[in-house]
Amino acid sequence: MNGKPTKGTHRKGHLLQKNCLQCGLPFTWRKKWARVWDEVKYCSDRCRNEHKKTTKENKA
Ligand SMILES: [Zn+2]
Repeated sequence: MNGKPTKGTHRKGHLLQKNCLQCGLPFTWRKKWARVWDEVKYCSDRCRNEHKKTTKENKA
């Protein structure tokens, strides 16, 4: 039995949130991002690809 709550505030329904760098929309933490949440900057693969494209175009 290891049901210790994590340190800090433990509020029900409190989910981490970020704003997508590409579309600007807020998106919430997902389980699949648990390990990479710090690196997640876009709400979806589509936005990540879009951003790449735009950056490339601007650079050229
Ligand atoms: Zn987005």
